[in-house]
Amino acid sequence: MITADRAIAAYLGLAIGDALGATVEFMTPHEIAVQYGIHDTLHGGGWLRLKPGHVTDDTTMSLALGNAILAQGSVDALAAAQAFDAWMRAKPVDIGNTVRRNLLQFRKTGNPEAPYSDHDAGNGAAMRMLPVALATFGQTEQTVRTACRAQAHVTHHSALSDAACECLVFMVQDALRGADKNYLLHQHAHQLAARHPAFKFRAIKPASNPSGYVADTLQAVFQSFFDTNDFRDCLIDVVNRGGDADTTGAIAGMLAGAVYGPEAIPDAWLKALDADIRSSCEAQALALLKMAGESPK
Ligand code: MN
Ligand code: MN
Repeated sequence: MITADRAIAAYLGLAIGDALGATVEFMTPHEIAVQYGIHDTLHGGGWLRLKPGHVTDDTTMSLALGNAILAQGSVDALAAAQAFDAWMRAKPVDIGNTVRRNLLQFRKTGNPEAPYSDHDAGNGAAMRMLPVALATFGQTEQTVRTACRAQAHVTHHSALSDAACECLVFMVQDALRGADKNYLLHQHAHQLAARHPAFKFRAIKPASNPSGYVADTLQAVFQSFFDTNDFRDCLIDVVNRGGDADTTGAIAGMLAGAVYGPEAIPDAWLKALDADIRSSCEAQALALLKMAGESPK
């Protein structure tokens, strides 16, 4: 399988999952079923009243981070903090509470590392890890972990967030190398749950209405990702669980894109995705891989 194709599919998956999930963010599965039956189109709306095919902070923070990494030539905490601050000033459609609080703190102190807090275990750093996975592709494990934390700690400095961020980055990188889902399940998802029981996703009830707590988010994402067999089914399964559906959709879409590749992405969803977002995702995926020293094959 071709690394560059999978990187592009991961980025498009992130944006498509975000756009699909945003329509039903904060709804319960029952409310979704009453209103849509099964929600499966990128028609916008939701509490943010998005235009069809538009995305939210999950995708736009990822793109802001990726641009900062490209401008800097590396994953740098201060450059990331400045990029997120500029992103916040541009009045994004949505912004998480932890992100806002710690970016306001950064404005005051100039310190790009938020203070440690076990309470800051939301999914806001995990949702924007893809540019780090691409920029550090092929680097040593320690370099990858350091880069993950540099970007994550700007807004989320917590052990559970770190564990989730690093797990997702290693999963994406292995998928880009051609690893299959079974490998990702045993090498990464189960290992994460073994180290941090909050992430257990087997032998518990299906994660419905997942909150923004990163362990709830990954439970839903892992159940949908590992229990379905293609891109479309995975995304439909995860967003119809409701809750923080744009973020579960974004993370599941990233993983599903990386594993199943571009040909698995439904044409209707690709066409419905905002054209500027689509081309930004495609261009940035290639530029970040190039920065990592990966020539397109
Ligand atoms: Mn969002
Ligand atoms: Mn969200």
